[in-house]
Order: sequence, then C-alpha cells, then structure tokens
Amino acid sequence: TFKKPILRGENLKPRAPIVTVMGHVDHGKTTLLDTIRNTNITAREAGGITQHIGASRVHHEGKDIVFLDTPGHAAFTSMRARGAQCTDIAILVVAADDGVMPQTMEAISHAKAAGVPIIVAVNKMDKPAANPDRVKQQLSDHGLIPEDWGGDTIMVHVSAKSGENIDQLLEMILLVAEMEELKADPTVSPEGVVIEAELDKGKGAVATVLVQQGTLKKGDIILMESSWGKIRAMINASGKQLKSAGPSTAVEILGLSDVPQPGERFIKVDAEKEARDSISAKDQKRREVANQMSPRMTLEELYSKMQDGATPTVNLLIKCDVQG
Ligand code: GDP
Repeated sequence: TFKKPILRGENLKPRAPIVTVMGHVDHGKTTLLDTIRNTNITAREAGGITQHIGASRVHHEGKDIVFLDTPGHAAFTSMRARGAQCTDIAILVVAADDGVMPQTMEAISHAKAAGVPIIVAVNKMDKPAANPDRVKQQLSDHGLIPEDWGGDTIMVHVSAKSGENIDQLLEMILLVAEMEELKADPTVSPEGVVIEAELDKGKGAVATVLVQQGTLKKGDIILMESSWGKIRAMINASGKQLKSAGPSTAVEILGLSDVPQPGERFIKVDAEKEARDSISAKDQKRREVANQMSPRMTLEELYSKMQDGATPTVNLLIKCDVQG
C-alpha cells in the first residue's frame, strides 16, 4: 500500500536519492546527520543562515543526496498513515557497542514493508567496546546478511563522532542510488508530498514539500488533500528564495489556505477555482458525514461513514454493557 508516484514523462533524468536515517534511540542518528551536513554542504550554503526545513541536500563527489531530517521512524510512520512513500534508501544506524535493539528491529520491518533498500551504518566504532562482528551476527539473524559474509546488505563501519568512514557511507548511498536507477521527468506537471507543515505566526500556513517529479514554480497553484494555495514564495534549506524546484528538491512553500498533514500529496492545478472547489467539496462532504453521525451508531456504521468522508477526527465515547 505504499504509493510512489507513477513516473510520467519521456524526459526521464537521474535524480538525487531521498535518504532516511533510522535506528534505535541513542545509536547516533542525529550525530550522523549533523556530521554529514557539516562536512558536505557547499561553502556557499554553509555561509547562509541555515533554516530548518526538514530536509537537507548534501554534495558528494559531484552528486547530490537528500536527507530527510526527521530521524527515526516518524518520517515513515506519518507518511505510512497516508500510504505515502518518499524514501529511496534507509540508513540503519546500529551502535557497535550496543548491538541490535528493539527499535533497530522496528526500523528493519518499516523499511522492508516499504520495499526500501537498507544500508547499515555500524556506528560508534571509535568506542573500545565496539563489537561489529556481534552486530553483523545479530543483523544476519534478522535477515540482513553482510556482503562480506556472502549476503547483499552493505554495512559500513563508521564513527559519527570522529567522522571516520562517513565518506565511504556516502559513496555507498550513491552506489545504491545508481543501482536503483532513480529518475524523474523535470518537464511534467509537478507533484510531490508534504514532509512537514505548521502555522507560522508571521508567514501563515507553511509546508515543506518534496518535489518528486516535474518542476514546481513560484506562482503555481497547488492542491493537497486539506489545503490549496498559490505559491507566494519557495525557500530552500539555506533560506534562499527559489523561483523553481525540480525533482528531489525539498522546499518550504508559503501561500497555503490551511496547514496540511505530513504525507499529503500535492499536484499542480490550472486554476484557483479548481483548487478552491475541490477543497470546499471535501469540506461539504465532511459536514454531511458529520451531520449523519449519531450517538447511537454502531462501530460498523461509523466506520462506513468514515470511509465515505475525508478522514474526520472523531472523539469516541464508548459505552459498554458488560454481561457475564
Ligand atoms: P540518536 O538518538 O540516535 O539521534 O543518537 P544521538 O546522535 O543523539 O547520539 C547519542 C549519543 O551517542 C550522544 O551522546 C552522541 O554524542 C553519542 N554518539 C553518537 N555517535 C557516536 C560515535 O560515533 N562515537 C561515540 N563515541 N559516540 C557517539
């Protein structure tokens, strides 16, 4: 049930991989992302004031990699709730001194369910207690067999703290990206997914979206499930205003009617009226469904109403007659 957009267009061009870092708490996800960002963002960008937009683009050997900033599983779970899928490669961080832990296994099943290739970063190799062989054994027991043991899972020994082998990890990401033949047509009508969104006091409803295909332009009218807008401004991770954003670009957009949910998809529409009508039709439907709700409905009836409507938030007061 994981939806990647159906590739459109004749003009398919390679695009940067979208990478999510996962793993058990305290195994070094945040440190790894920080180290990668600090050493691989171009000087030009690093000079600017870095604005948090939920994704960062790093450069390695002339190629780009986009890291989703939400470490851990939030990126997967919020997207998953809506059946969206925007990760191309998962980096599974496992601390070499701690080994496989519950959230490591959870991360493996998330990535497997989404059909996303996993690269293992065996982290904290600088620690005296590091035991990478034990990690490899544990991962093998969970179906991830390292290449040097005859399997096909790439495992890189790193230290997020000292920066050891981070270059090699980035190289492996680019290698897997190449094998996956990630492509998109920048000339088709733009489409993508909301990574995060909030109501900003000054700017109003803002959302960070990932453009998955086509090129999003300032002034475009976009439609999501719960919001629409004519893009007033697009801002990248370094706070720079952009006029256009092609495939595998994450940008913050301004000019939305409401705050969308992470995982909502966006498309470009031709006219404001089309977007406005679609949203008000959904609102109307939601109201109708709400009016049909009755305190005496059975759960089956409620469920079927929810299937008719646009995911209303329902507070349930369940009264049970317990017999026997
Ligand atoms: P997260 O919860 O997975 O995001 O983990 P953090 O990045 O917050 O790291 C948890 C702790 O481990 C912090 O105190 C880090 O400084 C430390 N840490 C992370 N990576 C390394 C590493 O490669 N070596 C050592 N020695 N410590 C690390």
